[in-house]
Amino acid sequence: MPAPGAIDIRQFPCLSDNFGVLIHDPESETTIAVDVPDAQPYLDILKATGWRLTHILITHHHWDHVQGLGTLTTETDATVVGPERSRSKIAGMTRGVEDGDDVLCGPIEVKAIATPGHTLDQISWYFPSLNIAHTGDTLFSLGCGRVFEGDLEMMWASLKKLKRLLPDETSIYCGHEYTEANARFALTIEPNNAELSLRAGEVADLRAKDQPTLPTTMAREKATNPFLRADEPSVKEALGMTDKTDAEVFAEIRTRKDNA
Ligand code: ZN
Ligand code: FE
Repeated sequence: MPAPGAIDIRQFPCLSDNFGVLIHDPESETTIAVDVPDAQPYLDILKATGWRLTHILITHHHWDHVQGLGTLTTETDATVVGPERSRSKIAGMTRGVEDGDDVLCGPIEVKAIATPGHTLDQISWYFPSLNIAHTGDTLFSLGCGRVFEGDLEMMWASLKKLKRLLPDETSIYCGHEYTEANARFALTIEPNNAELSLRAGEVADLRAKDQPTLPTTMAREKATNPFLRADEPSVKEALGMTDKTDAEVFAEIRTRKDNA
């Protein structure tokens, strides 16, 4: 198992607000891409570093996550691993995974956590030995994905699952830089959450300097992300929903965001 300190992680902008991510282990010469919104930024970094791409992990079938796959698989001989249920939609997929499957990328163990809601196929990728996870379009910093293919109850179950399975110290990478708008919305739900106010200020500063707000951590999201906090008594109270279920409170928050 590589020492976590030796791992080189590159996060870079793709398209208008997507992230590209490359994870490189120099010891085993393993290089993993998570999603490919656009091939060129990946090819540029691979060329600049001399890394050979060995694995591509896909979170879901949406075009802004797989668009560069064709070019990247033509230019490299990387193994493509993605959700089994979207095998027909993801060109060049070498291996399909289901919830709970383990994938070995060289010596690096990666766990597939099914987190449906935004799409039915959505996989969050968890790297326990590196203390990182990529949550695709399920969990964003201070937000969560819009519910397209699943239903609100399904999305809430997926977010609860991430809260249960990802330790507080996990660094969270995700599909999009949406944090600034998410922060504005989050403050309408919890105007008195001091940690959220602090984070919103930090996010505004980072964006003013054109810096990314990701990765975040699970601990920070649990303390500030309203979509993860639908089961908090203080959130229910702020919404006047103390007698409602957690899923109903989540549904209210997600619906307000959709209409914001
Ligand atoms: Zn998506
Ligand atoms: Fe997306």
